[in-house]
Amino acid sequence: MINYPKTIDFSKFKEEHFNKNDCKYGLPYEVKFCKKCVESNQRPSTTTEYSHTIKSNKDPIVFDLDGICAACNYTEKKSKTDWKERDKMLRELCDKFRRTDGHYDCVVPGSGGKDSVYVSHLLKNEYNMHPITITWAPTIYTDWGRRNFDSWIHGGQDNILITPNGKTHRLLTRLALDNIFHPFQPFIFGQKSTAPKIAAAMNIPLIFYGEDEAEYGSPSNEKSDAIVNKNFFCIDDTSKMTLSGIKIKSLIKDFNIDMSELQPYMPLNSEILEKKKIEVHYFGYYKKWHPQGVYYYAVENSNFKAAPERSAGTYSKYSSLDDKIDDFHYHTTGIKFGRARATEDAAHEIRSGEITREEAIGLVKRYDLEWPKRFEEEIFKYLSINSDEFPEASKMFEKENLDKDYYDLLANTFRSPHLWKYVNNNWKLRKTVWTND
Ligand SMILES: [Zn+2]
Repeated sequence: MINYPKTIDFSKFKEEHFNKNDCKYGLPYEVKFCKKCVESNQRPSTTTEYSHTIKSNKDPIVFDLDGICAACNYTEKKSKTDWKERDKMLRELCDKFRRTDGHYDCVVPGSGGKDSVYVSHLLKNEYNMHPITITWAPTIYTDWGRRNFDSWIHGGQDNILITPNGKTHRLLTRLALDNIFHPFQPFIFGQKSTAPKIAAAMNIPLIFYGEDEAEYGSPSNEKSDAIVNKNFFCIDDTSKMTLSGIKIKSLIKDFNIDMSELQPYMPLNSEILEKKKIEVHYFGYYKKWHPQGVYYYAVENSNFKAAPERSAGTYSKYSSLDDKIDDFHYHTTGIKFGRARATEDAAHEIRSGEITREEAIGLVKRYDLEWPKRFEEEIFKYLSINSDEFPEASKMFEKENLDKDYYDLLANTFRSPHLWKYVNNNWKLRKTVWTND
């Protein structure tokens, strides 16, 4: 049963102090900000999502003894990289896998955003590869996201678009919001596993993802920085797997979802990956990744257009703009970890030399955790599991309709007392990058 959010114990959120034991998600209780960028030590690393429940602990980004985050240290490492040598490695990799018999020789997963446009266009035109692009549909397309997707494909790429059952995806997204305050999670499941599964089915043994997760401070693969950690898209024992914070068995039994409808979310078995000798590489390992440069490349080569408005919670217009649920993804992240989209964007732009730390702090102060007003009504309607459309599953919700009051109460249950205080009927972060530098 999914209960109406309970009232929380406000005494834990007093101005003066918090109990270290109340610190949620295994986060470090002392909040710190990177001395070079504006990233917080509360940012969770990209991890596998396959066993994510409300009790899961996060692996936060690592800070070194000088107070510098792993993402900034990765940037430092990048500045010393011999990119000519890396290009040679990429050419050798392509030579090994290139086919000239009319078959595809590599897979490029993507949405038609700047990153996938860049990777697929370069592979095809500069490295003479024959990519098939694979897209896992956004939860709800923005108009400009759909237009960019069309421009990408019409501009000269083959594509397979996988769209999951809309009702199942809606229910899973609502459950992910209520159970783990992570409405983006069902999308992530498909995003990670769709390309490897199709590559396996079509016998295409090479996959290129774009940017390395290490750009955001996630630990690199132990074996090689070039290879994507297979735990992101493979799992061998699905009996322990959870989706939207719920065991697969319960999704079928309690929420009336058919196992076949869960197929798009299921990971690949690693035995298949090994048997088919599929290699999954980061393109960003071989080519220096510069977000603004990638954006200009996409504009020039694919008619890619930035959004007509900035995204909610940030100042940027050209990245991660194709899904209306994205605004809520970043808002929920902000509630749980005290840092949100503007922090992420600004930190990244400091690293690529676009803005100064001082400018970044101003942007974070102005935009981080801004209420995502623009798609609010549509998203709440989308996430309301009404009895007409969901006669069985709706019975599992104490309150099937979602509105702002529900969302706010739910958000409170996910706030950690080490990050938040409640003063004069207002929620405030205890520590911010602009007040406690
Ligand atoms: Zn940093």
